[in-house]
This record gives sequence, structure tokens and C-alpha cells, in this order.
Amino acid sequence: MTDHKLRVRRAAVLGSGVMGAQIAAHLTAAGIPVDLYDLPSDDKQRSKIAAGGIQNLLKLKPAPLASKELAEFITPRNFEDDLDQLQQCDFIIEAIVERMDIKKSLYEKIGPHIHADAFFVTNTSGLSITELAGVVPAALKDRFCGVHFFNPPRYMHLVELIPHAGTNAETLDLLEDFLTRNLGKGVVRARDTANFIANRVGVFTMWSTMHHAQRLGLGFDTVDALTGPAIGRPKSATFRLADVVGLDTMANVIKTMDSKLADDPWHGYYQAPSWLSQLIEAGALGQKAGAGVFRKE
Ligand code: NAD
Repeated sequence: MTDHKLRVRRAAVLGSGVMGAQIAAHLTAAGIPVDLYDLPSDDKQRSKIAAGGIQNLLKLKPAPLASKELAEFITPRNFEDDLDQLQQCDFIIEAIVERMDIKKSLYEKIGPHIHADAFFVTNTSGLSITELAGVVPAALKDRFCGVHFFNPPRYMHLVELIPHAGTNAETLDLLEDFLTRNLGKGVVRARDTANFIANRVGVFTMWSTMHHAQRLGLGFDTVDALTGPAIGRPKSATFRLADVVGLDTMANVIKTMDSKLADDPWHGYYQAPSWLSQLIEAGALGQKAGAGVFRKE
């Protein structure tokens, strides 16, 4: 283990959606000012939560910000006008939509603007870190890896740390120390496999529960009642959790297993049930959209 410490004077979070906004809040609560990036506000592709940005943080329950005043230490930025400001950031975490093509094109665009000494990492739920590393600028590659927070990041203790073959050992030690000491997390190092550890198991469990529910004709409430506190799990067990995660994000996470695990005996489960595809097409993406499996409470 190295004796150095990672000193983050300013961080950038790329993506102000469900995870990005809350990761920004968590970093700020640890005393680190944050630039929170997203598409410009006139971009029609922006999700509703991105449009609300920091304001949405103040409304979320449980509250991701330790105090309202901390919101002042988060600066909204956009990927068109504010790329020069990335130079000031020593820790940059990407948390945009779970799509390989979109992440790669963002990396190509922002790469030249990141300081050569910065730590650039991704919060992907399970896309290949090795493939993403392929479009990271050469000077940053040995500090690139997955730093996978769980939702909600302020309350979930676990962070997975996922290197690619070119991530150096010191980077992992520095990040593990930072995540543990500064952000109060428990770190598990995972290999760069489809959906890493927790989502490979957790999303599979949710997904197979959904398929069984459909086959058995069980309602959403019934399934949540059976898979929640009754068996020692939180209230947001299956369908409520899907709404918290985001139905589109969950479907993208499963697509990774569908495309990468063709020989898996459970492969048949890695397709979205038709009702879920319909909700996504209708824009009912979960809590972030105000409606999903359930309407926002
Ligand atoms: P989200 O849908 O809430 O937000 C995605 C953000 O990406 C939006 O703010 C959107 O404006 C932005 N975006 C969309 N297209 C873009 C583009 N072309 N260029 C730049 N930005 C673009 O998603 P999320 O749930 O916050 O997930 C973000 C990342 O975190 C994903 O990789 C996801 O897998 C991962 N993650 C999600 C969860 C979860 O529970 N939702 C948990 C852990 C990790």
C-alpha cells in the first residue's frame, strides 16, 4: 500500500441524473467542491432529473445533501460550453447513461480537456472497463478504472473498484483509501466481467423475479410484499427498487448480460418483459420521471 494520499481539491461529476447528482452531493458533503456536468439545458434528450439538476437533490428523500447550504458548492456545467473548467478538477467521475456508444463518444470529446494528472473513473453499472479504457487519453489510462457507487450513494456503503489491465496498482490503493477515508465507503475490488459482482447477482435476481411474477400472474404489490421486509429486505424490494434505479438504466444493465453471456444457462432471462419495454417507450422510467411501475409517491 502506498503512503501517498489522494488529495482532491475539486471534482467533476459527468452526468447529473439519478447517480451523478447524488455522487456530487456526497463529494460535496465530504468537503470537495464539485462541477456537475450534463448536456446543455436546451438539449431535448435530457432526462427530467437532469433538467432539475441540483434543485432535485433538495427534494429527494432520503436527502443526499447533508444541508441545503452545501448545494452552493455544486456548480452546474455543460458539455458544450464548460469543458475548459475540467482542467481544474483532479477527480472526474463519469455517470452518464449506461450506453457504451454514448460513453465512448463523450470520452473522445472531453479527453483532451482533462488534466494529465487527474484521476478519471466511471460509475458504469457493468459495461466493460477495458473497452471504455480504449478511448481514454493515453496519459490518463493508468488512472482509469470503474468506481461503482450504489443507489442511493449517500447511504449505500458498498463501492466496487474495477481495474482494467492497464490500471496501475497505486491508483487502486489511492482510490480505495480515498473512498474509505474521505467518503466513508467499504470497497470491494471486482474483476472486469459483465456487470461486475453486485449487479451480476442483484439485477439477475430482480430480473428473474419479474419473469416469474409475469408467468405466475402476480401483481407488483404482491411481489414487493413477498420480496421485501417479509424476508428481511428493504421496502423497495423488487418493483419499487426498479423505479428507484430507473427502468431504462435497469434494462441497459441487463442488455450487458444479454450481449456478453450468450452461453450462460440463464441467458433466456436476459430479455425485458414486454410490459417493461412498453413503460420505457412511454417515458415512464421510474422515480426520476415521476412515473414508472408505480407513480411517484
Ligand atoms: P440517468 O438516466 O438518471 O442519468 C443519465 C444522465 O446522462 C442524464 O443526466 C442525461 O442527461 C445524461 N446523458 C444522456 N445522454 C447523454 C449524452 N449523449 N452525453 C452526455 N450525457 C448524456 O442515469 P443514472 O441512473 O444516473 O445512471 C448513470 C450511470 O450510473 C450509468 O452508467 C448507470 O449504469 C450507473 N449506475 C446507476 C445506478 C442506479 O441505480 N440508477 C446505480 C449505480 C450505477
